[in-house]
Amino acid sequence: MKRLRVLFVASEVAPFVKTGGLADVAGSLPTAIKKGGHDIRVVMPQYGQLEEDYLQQLEHVLNFRIQLAWRNEYVGINTLEHNGVQIYFVDNQNFFHRPTLYESEDRHVQFAYFCRGVLEMLPRLDFQPHIIHCNDWHTGPLPLFLSDTYCHRDFYQSMKTVFTIHNLLYQGQFGSELVDDLLGVHHRFWEEGYIRHDNLVNYMKMGILLSHRVTTVSKGYAQEIREPFFGAGLDYALRMKGEALRGIINGISYQEFDPRTDKRIYANYDEENLQGKKENKRKLQQAMGLPQEDVPLVGMVTRLVDEKGLDLIAYSMEEMMQDEIQFVLLGSGLPHYEEMLKRIEAHYRQKATIQIGYDEDLAHRIYAGSDLFLMPSRFEPCGLSQLISFRYGTIPVVRQVGGLKDTVFPFDAQTQSGNGFTFESYRPAELLKAIRQAQEIYQKRDIWQQLVQKVMQLDYSWERSKDEYLHLYQELLEE
Ligand code: ADP
Repeated sequence: MKRLRVLFVASEVAPFVKTGGLADVAGSLPTAIKKGGHDIRVVMPQYGQLEEDYLQQLEHVLNFRIQLAWRNEYVGINTLEHNGVQIYFVDNQNFFHRPTLYESEDRHVQFAYFCRGVLEMLPRLDFQPHIIHCNDWHTGPLPLFLSDTYCHRDFYQSMKTVFTIHNLLYQGQFGSELVDDLLGVHHRFWEEGYIRHDNLVNYMKMGILLSHRVTTVSKGYAQEIREPFFGAGLDYALRMKGEALRGIINGISYQEFDPRTDKRIYANYDEENLQGKKENKRKLQQAMGLPQEDVPLVGMVTRLVDEKGLDLIAYSMEEMMQDEIQFVLLGSGLPHYEEMLKRIEAHYRQKATIQIGYDEDLAHRIYAGSDLFLMPSRFEPCGLSQLISFRYGTIPVVRQVGGLKDTVFPFDAQTQSGNGFTFESYRPAELLKAIRQAQEIYQKRDIWQQLVQKVMQLDYSWERSKDEYLHLYQELLEE
């Protein structure tokens, strides 16, 4: 295979700044591709949230100014190397030193600026990628700018774009005045519908329609979003892509999530020696103020938003708490879910602990210390938590949707096939049934242990999926 040059563009990259699964992917997929000898580099905004440790390592590479309609803005490019991959940071404090990553009033300007800055940085770095791999709505303007003017310049002419949808729900929709006032592109993109949806400028749609290939993070979700129910209004645009829309299941970093070496957890372990897992459970119970009982401990680590099935939790909890079971949840998000969960905690202090916030150490301890991991999602593009759970010998209980359906298969005690507990329809009774099935198997100690050992041996590292991306890149190169 030819040595590829790839630029991977993302609005968040672990371990630098992370709010969700996108950062995990942007932090680990390029590393896997780089190992195959390809020249892949990553670029992200330099947020004020970037920790001092990383700031110290940054090297200033260059700076220049860009034009965005009437605006003329400074761009600084800083860099560091991480796991052998060059990471570039687009620096402008005006745009990226904000309290939150995505909630600023002028987020349309922040990300149009980012995309233009990224394109302008390339010739100055003397880096000419074959492929620019964009991710989610924040990077939609990049294929637009490329299609509008840049593709006519020698340097950019042969570049191909891949656009990966990590979550179709967040689209970046803004008023039509943007076409002239910010993007400054030819009106045909608006008139012909490449960037227009519901009479608004839609960053996700431009990414989809103006990229050479579109991928999403599981085959299940790739199928689902072609239909109105999961398509968030853009199903028609996705159907238009035909074969150019593919599903490639995410992997996770097997270095970062490794119970043998993980420094964040209480004790290390592997499938041959599960004593350490017991120790993690004991210490987690202790830290969470739960009695040290030998009952199934159900964990959740999640953003508290509708799509994660929090209303199912609300409706099932009363009933679930009647069982011999314990529940630990770490999450942050919508205030009404935080309040709902706090009420549950107040009612069932001996059984449920809720930690509001974002905490990576605790997240790892929950993955390691729980017996079951609950994901009752309404929709789930891929879901990384079930893959992380497997790695730590924690059995997922999931709704069969999107990537969950592709990775978690119902356990059958007779044949011992399957790797988790699942339910289909979005109803509290169904969720409870799956949890109770899990409780039943938990009591059959031998079978349970075999199941734990089995899921720990599954391989959801990037090894398989990175090849699918490489094939896709290669295919584009040959066109
Ligand atoms: P999504 O990207 O929709 O949030 P994913 O399952 O793809 O869902 O990825 C979520 C990632 O973010 C996982 O690595 C999960 O452990 C992590 N995560 C989510 N919420 C928290 C939190 N409150 N604290 C620490 N990590 C979290």
